Amino acid sequence: MNKKTIEDIDFLGKRVLARFDFNAPLIDGVIADRTRIVTALPTIKYLLEKGAKLIICSHFGRPKGKIMQEYSLKPIHKMLCDYIGDMPFFNEAIAKDTVEASHKLKNGEAMFLENLRFYKGEESSCDDFSQKLADLCDIYINDAFGACHRNHASIAKTPKYAKESGAGFVLKKELEVLGDSLFGDVARPFVAIIGGSKVSDKIGVLKNLIKKTDAVIVGGGMAFTFLKALGHSVGKSLIEEDKLDIAVEVIKTAKQKGVKLLLPVDVKVAKEFPNPIDKLVEFDNVLIDQIPKDMMGLDIGVGTEAIFAYEIKKAKTVLWNGPMGVFENPVFDKGTYAVAMAVAETTENNGAISVVGGGDSASAAVQCGVASRVSHISTGGGASLAFLEGKVLPGVACLDDK
Ligand code: AMP
Repeated sequence: MNKKTIEDIDFLGKRVLARFDFNAPLIDGVIADRTRIVTALPTIKYLLEKGAKLIICSHFGRPKGKIMQEYSLKPIHKMLCDYIGDMPFFNEAIAKDTVEASHKLKNGEAMFLENLRFYKGEESSCDDFSQKLADLCDIYINDAFGACHRNHASIAKTPKYAKESGAGFVLKKELEVLGDSLFGDVARPFVAIIGGSKVSDKIGVLKNLIKKTDAVIVGGGMAFTFLKALGHSVGKSLIEEDKLDIAVEVIKTAKQKGVKLLLPVDVKVAKEFPNPIDKLVEFDNVLIDQIPKDMMGLDIGVGTEAIFAYEIKKAKTVLWNGPMGVFENPVFDKGTYAVAMAVAETTENNGAISVVGGGDSASAAVQCGVASRVSHISTGGGASLAFLEGKVLPGVACLDDK
């Protein structure tokens, strides 16, 4: 990795603006999942131990440049104080008082800024706002991988105005794992498992991975667009008519490159899209050519589970992004479980490096109980997709080179 990291910089006595992604789910003002706060702790602890004067900032939700109390970072600030001790909270990120307070911090002390998206300049990437944020610091540290695909002020511009900048521990690990393991010196066979609802969300990922992997496994709703492109009738299954040509293109590239493209050979079908808590949905397991006209495919079938698992267990590098079916419903979560178990097993028994993409894939890994059995679960949804598409992340590009 050619970017400066937290381990390459001297922080003693310096004001350090550290940008995190504390966009945790809140239910009735209570933090429902503290993962994003907990994963930030090593970077925060390290900076304080190294004598930084630490200014902590993040975005939260989508207040669209307005002050909205439901998007206040106060609950996150409170939780962080429970972990690392009290620190003052500043309602105005770029006020004169806030800058003065940053100068008054002692080495190893921290302060916490309110939601940066309360300012319009954050999302519009305004120069003036970016510069004012940079007035708070000598050094800028980005540990917000989940936001690095955004061209926002505190992500893509503020670092340019700081004297020095680099990646925190979360970002460093993401870049090492996603960058080096998947796109560097890759251990082969490299198998990518791509699922989820739509081809349209993952066109870029499919097009990029089909050139770099040894096998691509396609499950979930998007598989039906591929199956239809191959001439199968898929009943009422999810189809994106306008993406049939993309499916054909991916199939063609796979053939040209000698990459195996695995699609379901059987599926679980039902008459309607299921409600997540309906455990008694009537379903059938049918071969691809036998999907009834009035039914839709909602999970891969048992034969497909076995074929996908067989391929996954041969891999030395695995990337998994997206569920194999409507895994929110217990009747249609079996395909996702089978894939999750195979990914965990190839990691443990075959020494494979396994990477789970963020978002729904991360929750599927947690639901299937394999979160601690894979090599890495990415902390970013959109950011990891952008990375897998081969895009340069603005939040990474602007950091200092080593
Ligand atoms: P994504 O956000 O693209 O990763 O998609 C995740 C969503 O895809 C989940 O909410 C699943 O319920 C949905 N999904 C998976 N398989 C299917 C399917 N066969 N038909 C419709 N939706 C699906």
